[in-house]
Amino acid sequence: MAGTRLGLFGGTFDPVHRGHLEVAQTVRRALGLDQVLLVVANEPWQKVARGAVTPAEDRYALVEAAVAGWPGLVPCRREIDRGGPSYTVDTAEELLAEDRGRELTLVVGADVVPDLPTWRDERRLAELVALAVVDRPGSPLVPAPPGWRAVVVPVTPLDISSTEVRTRLEAGEPVGDLVPEAVMRCIRARGLYATRR
Ligand code: ATP
Ligand code: MG
Repeated sequence: MAGTRLGLFGGTFDPVHRGHLEVAQTVRRALGLDQVLLVVANEPWQKVARGAVTPAEDRYALVEAAVAGWPGLVPCRREIDRGGPSYTVDTAEELLAEDRGRELTLVVGADVVPDLPTWRDERRLAELVALAVVDRPGSPLVPAPPGWRAVVVPVTPLDISSTEVRTRLEAGEPVGDLVPEAVMRCIRARGLYATRR
């Protein structure tokens, strides 16, 4: 699609949850984006250093299950296909090289904003993409670092994190509506997060 307005919503999605879907859909509508790509990180280098991450193909399958029935939300596996550590700047460069008419908006929760200066080639990335920031319970909304073209998109705050979902599943506790049913089925089918015990 030439001239497409794309949202780039990157994450580990370990696992994807309802907060992710609400954010993606709300930003898509608010900014009139054609699609929001849920970009599944292959090796989230900042997280891999801190502990084990579920295999990328499993996380990707969960995202595929999650977006079924959400028009305009599209799973993106290019960081997995590229292999190695995942840098958003590489993904943005690739998307623009394929179609210079694309307009990219990077979507991040408030917790991510203070980390942006640690991202690879931050300056270059800030030139390539606009930034859409959404509120996240527990994280103060701080201004974007210098150089970013940022807007804040109002969202209904949802106090959900993958960490909480993993913790509950590993403890054998129900996750209620934190995770869509289709994702839960996929989690069980793959025996992820100790659901096979
Ligand atoms: P973890 O607890 O493992 O860090 P997470 O829930 O933060 O998982 P990530 O995959 O780390 O999920 O986040 C991907 C993106 O989604 C980030 O930009 C993050 O800020 C955003 N995000 C995740 N959950 C929410 C939420 N409940 N509200 C707003 N933004 C969210
Ligand atoms: Mg996170």
